[in-house]
Amino acid sequence: MRPFSYARPASLGETFDLLDSAGPGEIRPLVGGTDLIVGLQSGRIRPDVVVDLKHLADLPAGIEQVDGRLRISAPTSLTDIIGDARIRTWFPALAEAASTVGSVQIRNRASLTGNICNASPAFDTGPALLVHDAVVLLSSRDGDRRVPVADFVLGPRRTDLRAGEIATAVELPVPETPLRASFARLTRRRGVDLATLSLCCVVGPRRTRFAFGAVAPRPFVVDDDSGVLADPSSSPEDRDEVLRAMTAQASPITDVRGGADYRQAMLLVLGRRALAAARSRPVQSQPDGAR
Ligand SMILES: Cc1cc2nc3c(=O)[nH]c(=O)nc-3n(C[C@H](O)[C@H](O)[C@H](O)COP(=O)(O)OP(=O)(O)OC[C@H]3O[C@@H](n4cnc5c(N)ncnc54)[C@H](O)[C@@H]3O)c2cc1C
Repeated sequence: MRPFSYARPASLGETFDLLDSAGPGEIRPLVGGTDLIVGLQSGRIRPDVVVDLKHLADLPAGIEQVDGRLRISAPTSLTDIIGDARIRTWFPALAEAASTVGSVQIRNRASLTGNICNASPAFDTGPALLVHDAVVLLSSRDGDRRVPVADFVLGPRRTDLRAGEIATAVELPVPETPLRASFARLTRRRGVDLATLSLCCVVGPRRTRFAFGAVAPRPFVVDDDSGVLADPSSSPEDRDEVLRAMTAQASPITDVRGGADYRQAMLLVLGRRALAAARSRPVQSQPDGAR
């Protein structure tokens, strides 16, 4: 591991001072460290400074409802996200997806912003964030900007994060009517393993939306506006035809987790299952104890 210095700023202002004083690639934010430490150890990531975002007085861990959106601050752990009644009610697919990341120990440390900013093609929260129109809140000394997760992740290990910026939160629009959503994931074994593929499905009154992960350089979203997938009386053949057209947009690779043909075939199988799970899901409009 290449030596680096560790900074623990106490406020966003101090963080921006550090970011502004560093050149491109010289400084790396850290939240849970579950990706970053692996990259530092392997030598793939070689910063001069690691800046810890877990101790900022003006960016505490937490989830709050603001102007019709649920805002998850950057230091919030996946465990806290999974346990939040509002997430489980309004964004059940995100709770399901986050529950599959690593192990209990990993989820106790890992953050949602870290999962996004790491930009692995297989990051498990990606499809859920896309179907729910999640936005990354990016902050710098010059102010804030909001970028949809779908646009923020550009490809493997590439994001739209600019010099001087950090991701301070992820925001999800609270749905006006409850959504029927589900998450499905294929792995080589139960337990700690990255996804061979993952997907999310949201069924609305007419539109059905799917997002797919680990089968393209970045997760992507596809809508069915024909009404076939949302219609309980549509035939399995018609549903398969729509699902095949949606999954045709994937460009899976062959690697240790599976062949490209296998991944493509399994997209249809998991797509059917996710659709059935979402359609049969009981919906609850208000979480217990919602604020
Ligand atoms: C054993 C193991 C199993 C895993 N299993 C899975 C899995 O099943 N599914 C999965 O999706 N992932 C998995 N991961 C990867 C990892 O746990 C997740 O990606 C996690 O969500 C990363 O969050 P973190 O807070 O630890 O990020 P960190 O490691 O702290 O950061 C990750 C990257 O994002 C950058 N970053 C972090 N926060 C910010 C911010 N606020 N602003 C700007 N940049 C930021 C860092 O500089 C770094 O480049 C696994 C990792 C391990 C070690």
